[in-house]
Amino acid sequence: MPKTHHRKLRSILSQIPILLAASAIALTSSNLSAQTSAFGPDNPFYAPSKLPFQAPPFDKIKDADYMPALEAGITQQLEETRVIADNPAPPTFENTIVAIEKSGQLLTRVMGAFNGVTGANMNPVLQKTQDQITPKLAALSDAINLNPKLFARIQKIYDERHSLNLDPESLRLVEYDYLQFVHAGAKLSDTDKAALKKINEEEANLSNTFISKLLAATKEAAYATKDKSALAGLSDAQLAAAAQAAKDHKVEGYVLPLQNTTQQPILLFLSNRDTRKAVFENSWSRAERGGDNDTRATIARLAQVRAQKAKLLGYPNYAAWKLEDQMAKNPQAAIKFMDDLVPQTTAKAAGEEKDIQAIIDAEKGGFKVEPWDWEFYSDQVRKAKYDLDESQTKPYFEVNNVLHNGVFYAAHLLYGLTFKQRTDIPVYNPDVQVYEVFDVDNKHLALFYCDYFKRDNKNGGAWMDSFVGQSKLLGTQPVIFNVANFPKPAAGEPALISFTDVTTMFHEFGHALHGMFADTEYPSLSGTAVPRDFVEFPSQFNEHWASYPEVFQNYAKHYKTGAPMPPELAAKIKKAATFNEGYIFTELVEAAELDMQWHTISPDAPLQDPDNFEAAALKKTGFNLSYVPPRYRSSYFMHIWGNGYAAGYYAYLWSEMLDDDAYKWFEDHGGLTRANGDRFRKMVLSRGNTEDPEKIYDTWLGGKPNVGPMLEDRGLEPSAPSK
Ligand SMILES: [Zn+2]
Repeated sequence: MPKTHHRKLRSILSQIPILLAASAIALTSSNLSAQTSAFGPDNPFYAPSKLPFQAPPFDKIKDADYMPALEAGITQQLEETRVIADNPAPPTFENTIVAIEKSGQLLTRVMGAFNGVTGANMNPVLQKTQDQITPKLAALSDAINLNPKLFARIQKIYDERHSLNLDPESLRLVEYDYLQFVHAGAKLSDTDKAALKKINEEEANLSNTFISKLLAATKEAAYATKDKSALAGLSDAQLAAAAQAAKDHKVEGYVLPLQNTTQQPILLFLSNRDTRKAVFENSWSRAERGGDNDTRATIARLAQVRAQKAKLLGYPNYAAWKLEDQMAKNPQAAIKFMDDLVPQTTAKAAGEEKDIQAIIDAEKGGFKVEPWDWEFYSDQVRKAKYDLDESQTKPYFEVNNVLHNGVFYAAHLLYGLTFKQRTDIPVYNPDVQVYEVFDVDNKHLALFYCDYFKRDNKNGGAWMDSFVGQSKLLGTQPVIFNVANFPKPAAGEPALISFTDVTTMFHEFGHALHGMFADTEYPSLSGTAVPRDFVEFPSQFNEHWASYPEVFQNYAKHYKTGAPMPPELAAKIKKAATFNEGYIFTELVEAAELDMQWHTISPDAPLQDPDNFEAAALKKTGFNLSYVPPRYRSSYFMHIWGNGYAAGYYAYLWSEMLDDDAYKWFEDHGGLTRANGDRFRKMVLSRGNTEDPEKIYDTWLGGKPNVGPMLEDRGLEPSAPSK
């Protein structure tokens, strides 16, 4: 399995400078004031919380409290922005840049709690509040980003920044603010601003069209049959689920719904080759069947509109605009990085193909392996080569034990942290646990909430976010939460999880550490407020400690007997980690290259034919394996057309290069030691976005990141260092 990368976006406030207005709703403080009259001292968000660390008072917050508090927060932010912009005094760092940092504290306070409960504990009232507030937040960001008086002040400070005697973090903030405003179009003439607004609207509309077409297309392309024998290989439970899905789709027989990815996990079980082929082809062509749900015209236009937007903003293509504030800086760097991965990953996949073809030939199959055969036969290879049964390992991974003796233990050894459970802090659901985190000298560092069990009112996946972010300027300390979706045991039973879930706990806690160790003045630069191609680095880095012997032996103990996991079982987990990685990595790199090809189209290029474009893009980047299609085909690549990852899918791979490279540094310098941990905390984890992440990384490493350790970790041949 690829590593999990799930993190919720930061609160809306920190996104304001980067949130491009998708909404055309005009918003002024006057037309909101009428609705905010219900907001007063009896609202629990009215004043900062009196709980430790200003933790949200969930015992007092009612669902109905959010809407008036959010509206009052928006009004307050607008008014504060107006005062800053209209200030008759000449612009200074204090009266403009710092004033912006201090603004909107009510909205930040509400959004922290609101993001938490809407993600992990949703209900109809909250859903309605979210639907109503989303366009207002978009309009708020518009009102700030495109305020010419406000930008004129920032521009002046930016121009004079080197003569203002600013400390490095303050200087970084000036440059950061300036770039966010320029990116959003603040420098454009009024005519061009109007043009940009139109382009943004068309982009948002196309994106929404894509999302709804794809949802319908994916549902419609589910494989349906009345012939039970076509489904040979499925278990009784899987057949029952397929029969239920048929009822939901209002058809007779059985239905196999499609997953988002090209490959369909159900193919692993289907022994009938014709069925496998049909399921796969439904997946591959789901959004290319002509008719209402065909997305090809939509994405072709979307790519063109984005290129035109880049041109308007003064960039050669969309990716150049998008990557300017990322660690990679420009599309060439990201593309070079990916191009270098192609030979190794395709070679590994070709090796896996040989293993699979050997099984097919031994069975006298009489065919060459095709994408629809891969899951089915690779599972036979897995059983033959890496027999690992999760029911054998799970008793060694009881969730609280993993948390205390694994996740917390590693943080204690590396950074000297200690943890104490707090049962007096109110929570939004009884499943949530709260810990106070103490620093080396027993100083109060942070609050950490964890909400690990699946509920049907919770979003899927796992993520980290904060109720309160760290800032010396605002005098706030971090209040962080992790959410996951592990199966909840019956009352009185232990919660036993898979090693994948264990890895997820370490991953999300890596984000948590990034938030907890934040030690910055300004909230905009604090903790996890870093570029997308850097943010998964601390989390993926923390995953490595899950299998570090000293840590693993401390938590991998049988929940009943306390006996350590037998070494041969632990060895199987380790060995299985690189199984099928050639395929998995190739399909990921293909998708990331496709994304970058689409977003480096020239603004003057004609409308593309998506199928021709995709085939040419894959050929151009050196992919020639018929049996490994991209993880997402262009016509159903939700991340880049619908989910804000345009020109950003490479970030997963980029962060992975950093985390594997960083772990290698630890291995080369004595492994898990306090000295190594403290150095990493001081030079990386505490720094947020206070310096260019590339410089932060290079300074800590003493060089440039090397892609070799990632290839090794994936079980691919290590390459020569990239130039
Ligand atoms: Zn993550």
